[in-house]
Amino acid sequence: MAEVTLKDVVKVYPNGFKAVHGANLEVKDKEFVVLLGPSGCGKTTTLRMIAGLEEITEGTITIGGKVVNDVEPKDRDIAMVFQNYALYPHMTVYENMAFGLKLRKIPKPEIDKRVKEAAKILGIENLLDRKPKQLSGGQRQRVAVGRAIVRDPKVFLFDEPLSNLDAKLRTQMRAELKRLHKNLQATIIYVTHDQVEAMTMADKIVIMKDGVIHQIGDPYSVYFEP
Ligand code: ADP
Ligand code: ADP
Repeated sequence: MAEVTLKDVVKVYPNGFKAVHGANLEVKDKEFVVLLGPSGCGKTTTLRMIAGLEEITEGTITIGGKVVNDVEPKDRDIAMVFQNYALYPHMTVYENMAFGLKLRKIPKPEIDKRVKEAAKILGIENLLDRKPKQLSGGQRQRVAVGRAIVRDPKVFLFDEPLSNLDAKLRTQMRAELKRLHKNLQATIIYVTHDQVEAMTMADKIVIMKDGVIHQIGDPYSVYFEP
């Protein structure tokens, strides 16, 4: 089971700015939850605290029923996909996807199997020898997703993964990510400022504003302020 919970989670940055004010949230196992809100409302901060990339000032986060406040990112059974893809430019697609598994001392044949399976799912088998600069934006995004998939995590964290793509590709990738969610049977927490993305992909939408969770509901019951 891979439910994620936030209990009274507060983030105050070292400069004293309070980015998240006592967030409470329950994400169920295999649920696709979208954190939606304008730029600067605290979505990424929230996601990074779940990932363990940002310290929690107050409160408790659990993943799979276990308190993770003091657990290293690599031991959290999560994988994160970043907006800027964060691919290593000097490595091939294959090496980018394999890198995290090498660090975890996964045996090479197992790495090879996982990379090739993920590449197949994402339709990038023919790109494994390329460097990131030889890829289109959509292909880079698939590699970034592939790098998360090979880890086989229970929870995927997506931070505005489509915002650098053009409108047509965004529409296509929305459908792909939705399908991927069904296939992977994983829990997804997805950050965006795009209402259409939220409406088309979420099981549940969490609306944030100024560091506060304002509403939580299914796509038909939440109200977007114009
Ligand atoms: P969002 O993802 O919704 O755009 P963020 O979580 O990135 O919002 O940021 C929330 C707020 O916290 C913003 O006002 C941002 O300027 C501020 N912030 C982000 N990182 C830091 C930091 N390291 N130090 C101080 N303030 C920060
Ligand atoms: P290392 O850097 O540890 O020497 P290699 O890059 O030699 O690792 O790759 C190890 C294995 O990974 C190879 O035997 C091969 O099966 C697989 N591999 C590496 N690159 C590719 C690729 N572009 N396409 C398919 N398989 C690859």
